[in-house]
Amino acid sequence: MDYEEGDRVKVEKSGVEYEGIVMPSTTGHIIVKMVSGYNAGIEPEGATVTVVQKKTDMEEAAKKAVNEVKPKKGLPKVSILSTGGTIASKIDYRTGAVTSQFSADDILQAIPELTEIANFSGKAIYNILSENMKADYWQELARAVVEEIKNGADGIIVAHGTDTMMYSAAALSFMIDTPVPIVFVGSQRSADRPSSDNAMNAICAAKVAVSDIAEVTVVMHSESSDDKCSIHRATKVRKMHTSRRDAFRSINSEPIGYVDYSTGEITTGLSYVKRNERELALMDSIEPKCALVKFTPGSSPDILGFFIDAGYKGIVIEGTGLGHVSTDWIPQIERATEQKIPVIITSQCLNGRICDRVYDTGRDILKAGAIEGEDMLPEVALVKMMWTLGQIQNYDDAVDILKQDIRCEINERSLE
Ligand code: GLU
Repeated sequence: MDYEEGDRVKVEKSGVEYEGIVMPSTTGHIIVKMVSGYNAGIEPEGATVTVVQKKTDMEEAAKKAVNEVKPKKGLPKVSILSTGGTIASKIDYRTGAVTSQFSADDILQAIPELTEIANFSGKAIYNILSENMKADYWQELARAVVEEIKNGADGIIVAHGTDTMMYSAAALSFMIDTPVPIVFVGSQRSADRPSSDNAMNAICAAKVAVSDIAEVTVVMHSESSDDKCSIHRATKVRKMHTSRRDAFRSINSEPIGYVDYSTGEITTGLSYVKRNERELALMDSIEPKCALVKFTPGSSPDILGFFIDAGYKGIVIEGTGLGHVSTDWIPQIERATEQKIPVIITSQCLNGRICDRVYDTGRDILKAGAIEGEDMLPEVALVKMMWTLGQIQNYDDAVDILKQDIRCEINERSLE
């Protein structure tokens, strides 16, 4: 029987049976992606291939299943805004690569359980890998989110690549006063892999989107098992592993709470802003010309000088330990602040709080006008700098805002 790439087939050879999806082959072998996620390459001679399901029939069936779902009375309305990334991707049978080509509707087709939680509408805002995100895309995304809320969405899910999710989530957190949950979700492993975290993360995200947690959050696997997802506050979360399913961690904070995957129950530990406590507002001006600079031993102060001379409007330094740079960087910090370019000092340690009052380099950094980033993550300090300078042009007022806690990005007291 004829088969083509993307069909589900059974291949039988020498008494052994392989079942899976036909992948592209450059060697003449029949390549089958099996349920285990592994590919089998089978010499066609003497092999019998039976088509179990045509690719086109599988796609049709999935489409029909979703199209047949009528809005259910009494369920909340959730909008899925898709920006791309692994969660919104599928196998490209031409190349065998995972490509970002799903629309938001395709997410519902892939995860029909979602339709039990809410009535969904979906929009593909972008179809990009998140390394291609930019500050003006955050603005567009924030505007699209606000539009959905104005149109009556009870919750928003943003499907996003995991690599830069923490930047986009922090940006939206500063840009929007939200009366409803705005939940970022992604996946570390694509849907074609048996270890995919795609469905569980999306289902847990939907639970949070219909909850009373009216903040910008990131919902991803808590552990490598499928027990629960963490609900991370957008300004306290970081991707801490390249590939593990539990890559996302709250830093200098506990997560707001957890979603139990089997019961769908949400438990919370931290206090949070509740549904309808805030009125919807959008503050989407942003200053993209800000830099995050990592200090390394022996690195030239010219690095800082470059950003000052290139007209950057704000600089975040990722210093060492309690918030240090070498003595020869300090005159450049002073030059920046004299030119009314705010400088925030954060730490490469990530965990813990900046304290520039202990060692003499620290004291000199403060004398040069740098702002202690407290327990803020360097990336969050950068996004906060961009947002603050987008809102306020006056240097002293901007410095005042940078020192204040706006979205729980600064804890008054540190965790041990
Ligand atoms: N690098 C891509 C991104 O961040 C894919 C990885 C992912 O989605 O986890 O969009």
